[in-house]
Amino acid sequence: MNTKSFVGKLNQITKALFSMTPAQRDKVHQSIQALDTEIITDELIQPLFDMSSQCPHCHANHLKKWGKSGAIQRYRCKDCLKTFNNKTNTPLAKLRKSYLWEEYARCMVLKLTLREAAEVCNINLRTAFLWRHRFLMAQAGKNDDKLSGIIEVDEFFLAYSEKGSNTLTNRAKPRKRGSNIDKRTKEGQVAVLLSIDRSNHMINPRLSADTTAEIAANFAENITENSVLCSDGSWSYVTIAKQKNCDHKRLINGKVRVIDKVYHIQTVNGAIANFKGWINGKMKGVATKYLPNYLAWFKKSNAKLDKQQILVAAYG
Ligand SMILES: [Zn+2]
Repeated sequence: MNTKSFVGKLNQITKALFSMTPAQRDKVHQSIQALDTEIITDELIQPLFDMSSQCPHCHANHLKKWGKSGAIQRYRCKDCLKTFNNKTNTPLAKLRKSYLWEEYARCMVLKLTLREAAEVCNINLRTAFLWRHRFLMAQAGKNDDKLSGIIEVDEFFLAYSEKGSNTLTNRAKPRKRGSNIDKRTKEGQVAVLLSIDRSNHMINPRLSADTTAEIAANFAENITENSVLCSDGSWSYVTIAKQKNCDHKRLINGKVRVIDKVYHIQTVNGAIANFKGWINGKMKGVATKYLPNYLAWFKKSNAKLDKQQILVAAYG
C-alpha cells in the first residue's frame, strides 16, 4: 500500500473508531492482536512443520500445497488425499484460534491457576490441565544452571500429596491416609533444595531424601569453584564447600542474619516463601508427582518464562 492510499485508509479507520463504543473499540483491538499473534505463531511453527513435512493422518511424505484458508497454508496428502494445515493433529489444532496459545503462554508466565487460565482462554479445565503439563514436561528436570559468585542455598519441605486430575473430573478417589506415603519421603514430607546466586541463576531439584549424599548429588555439580556459599550452616554444605573450594558463610538458625553486609540467605528464603505461598495458597496444593513440573515452572518464571519456548515445546 502506498503512503497516499494508506493515509486515506487511516483517516477512514480513525473516523470509524471515533464512532464506536468503547466495547466495540475493544473488539477491534482484539482482532488486531489476534492478527499479530497468529502470524508470529505461524512463523514459529512453519519451520518445524517444514522439517518433517509429513501428512498428519497417514505420515506419508508426499504433500501438495492446497490453497489457503485465511492466511494459513493448507496441504493435501497425495497418498490418503486428506487435507490439513501445519497444526492439524497437534495440540495447537485444538484451539480455534492460535492466538489463544499465546494467551495461554501468557497465563503461564503470570502463574495463573488452571481455572483462571481456562477462563481467560475460554477452554475447559481438562484441556487447561493437559496443556499445562505438556508445557511443563518439556521444561522439567533440567537443573543445569551453573551458580557462581555469592550462592545462597537452603532446603524446604512440602507435604506429600496425591491430589491429581481426579479433582477435575469430580471422581472422588478415596484418600488412603498413611498407607500410600512415598517411601522416599520422610513422614509424608517431600524435600526440595533451592539455590540461587546473585545473578538470578537458580536450581531447585526435588531430593529423594534430605541427606548429605543426596544434597551433594544434586548440588555440587552446579557450583562454580571458588564461589562463596551462604547456607544455614548444616554439615552437608560444610562438606560441599570444602570439596568445591568455596568460602562458606554459615548463617546458623537466624542468630546471624547477615555477615559483612552482603552474605545472607534472604534471597533464597524469599524464593522459598514465594514458591510455598504459590503452591499452598494460590494452587491449593499440587500432586507430588507433578512437583518437578511446578518447580520447573517456578524456575522458568524466575528467569522470565519464554513464550516462544513454550509454544515450540507444546508443538512437540
Ligand atoms: Zn496422508
